[in-house]
Amino acid sequence: MIERRISQPIRIGDVTVGGDAPVTVQSMTNTDTRNAAATINQIKELEEAGCEIIRVAVPDSEAARAIKEIKKGISIPLIADIHFDYRLALASLKAGADGLRLNPGNIGEPEKVKAVVLAARERQAPIRIGLNAGSLPKNPKPGLSVAQQMVEAALEQIELLESLDFNLIKVSLKAFDVPTTIAAYREIAGKMPYPLHIGITEAGTPRTGIIRSSVGIGTLLYMGIGDTIRVSLTAHPREEVFAGYEILKSLDLRQRGPVLVSCPSCGRTEVDIISLAEAVEKELLKIDKPIKVAVMGCVVNGPGEAMDADVGIACGKGRGVLFRKGEKIRTIQEKDFLRALMEEVERV
Ligand code: SF4
Repeated sequence: MIERRISQPIRIGDVTVGGDAPVTVQSMTNTDTRNAAATINQIKELEEAGCEIIRVAVPDSEAARAIKEIKKGISIPLIADIHFDYRLALASLKAGADGLRLNPGNIGEPEKVKAVVLAARERQAPIRIGLNAGSLPKNPKPGLSVAQQMVEAALEQIELLESLDFNLIKVSLKAFDVPTTIAAYREIAGKMPYPLHIGITEAGTPRTGIIRSSVGIGTLLYMGIGDTIRVSLTAHPREEVFAGYEILKSLDLRQRGPVLVSCPSCGRTEVDIISLAEAVEKELLKIDKPIKVAVMGCVVNGPGEAMDADVGIACGKGRGVLFRKGEKIRTIQEKDFLRALMEEVERV
């Protein structure tokens, strides 16, 4: 059982992040934010995949203005990602952004920071302070590790917001290096009460990025650290959402859609179990209920797992045994494996 760090909850639109709220899955669009129609389309697709909070880049005032249109077409809270220019933060809030990702220290003069904080407070829009290992302040205190430098820099930014009586704060400390990321989050988790957005930055393409993210995010979540996650991948953002849920499902923190158990196959396998498992996985994408399905490659070790699932199949030469909720249902021919299994899944 994972014992979660209880952070001070915040509301981003109608989604709670922190406290004892479920760990949420978020992503970021890769459309041109100025193209509201394309951005809405992508966000709708991500909503369908389960994305609960979306972030959009705001590189200029046209993008900030487009948020108004985008908000009309989507149902999940939107966070505006701002670098340096406080006017873009103000314009994004005015256009209806539910939160900001911005480091107040990057904005410059105190009056500008104050203007952003006042506008954010008025809209009850939280600000995420996001420190990345690649963009740390130039003159760190001597002797600090990269993780410690990230923590120091984040605490400074937090103090700046707190000095303006603002506490709708969320924090992220991301690095590409997994041990650095874990060390940074561990350290800051005990030093401030705010919720943590966790992730591994620039994790790479799905093949390696999902593994890197799973190790980093999964380790932190297992330690009870993390209130919302983003899996950063060089891919369509729907892959980020899919991977995010798989990480949370692996730790029993969330349930969404089916879980597929399939054996790796070995010298005992007498059917094309890889193709069957891939076909079943594809079919299961159409189902949103939490159901456990097992595809096993032999009748020696297969029945155990197949019986443990809601629906399972243990395949032998030319024939397989179908199970439902631990009970043997019937024996089926190889040509019927996929159809019979999916019929049983529908029934359950
Ligand atoms: Fe091999 Fe059977 Fe185990 Fe699959 S279930 S890996 S076929 S022993």
